[in-house]
Amino acid sequence: MESILEFNHVHYAYHTKDGETKALSDITFSVANGEFVAIVGPSGCGKSTLLSLICGLLTPESGWIHLNGRPLSDNAVNIGYMLQHDHLFEWRTIYHNILLGLEIQHKLSSQTRAKARELLDTYGLGQFADARPFELSGGMRQRAALIRTLVLDPQLLLLDEPFSALDYQTRLTVSNDIGQILRKEQKTAILVTHDLSEAVSLADRILILSPRPATVQSIVEVSFDLAQDTPMNRRNAPEFKHYFNMIWKELNQNA
Ligand code: ADP
Repeated sequence: MESILEFNHVHYAYHTKDGETKALSDITFSVANGEFVAIVGPSGCGKSTLLSLICGLLTPESGWIHLNGRPLSDNAVNIGYMLQHDHLFEWRTIYHNILLGLEIQHKLSSQTRAKARELLDTYGLGQFADARPFELSGGMRQRAALIRTLVLDPQLLLLDEPFSALDYQTRLTVSNDIGQILRKEQKTAILVTHDLSEAVSLADRILILSPRPATVQSIVEVSFDLAQDTPMNRRNAPEFKHYFNMIWKELNQNA
């Protein structure tokens, strides 16, 4: 399968008046089109730095990053984001929140409006189109935030701890929900999380980073023998514990 994202021997360090903090060291990996990759690693190891490099907020000190086979600066890929907070505007209805990105990018048309309506209906928010965000549950708000991103048709989605502001129960349902939406839409996604069970329930591959400066400690291929491969079904499958323990051991090897 073709790679949408390639990191090749990437190094990055922060320079402040107190000195240098090496964040990433010799990071090489790639993500194939349609793949769901989770990135796990100890707190402060460099996960957010890695995402900032992908979206071009930071530039590698050495090494290179390609999107669709071209340098990052060529803007060859439309990137979407899903963050810890949904950032929905309370003064806008759900429908108008969902149109926001289209408005900013000057892509509002009858076609994109219809696409927004269709996504709202498909993912169970059709009857909340005229509601304000405060009328929705935390899970529904996250779904609305995802639809706002999907309507822009991103080729690559960056998910930065998207469920960590939710309580445990909601988190399970929402990650199940969002995982299935992303599969159905055949989106390529990179999820940064500190929650191993979330990573195992959602990803095709898990990149395990070492403590700072982060190196790629190992990459685990995740595969479940399930008729319906959903995050919730994975959590109940016998292989789940195996993957969880394997990654737990890897992460604690350096503790
Ligand atoms: P993670 O997302 O894995 O928790 P980060 O990528 O946020 O880790 O940070 C990696 C390291 O780089 C940490 O030690 C952090 O303190 C440091 N760091 C992050 N941002 C900056 C910055 N703007 N200036 C200096 N050091 C930073």
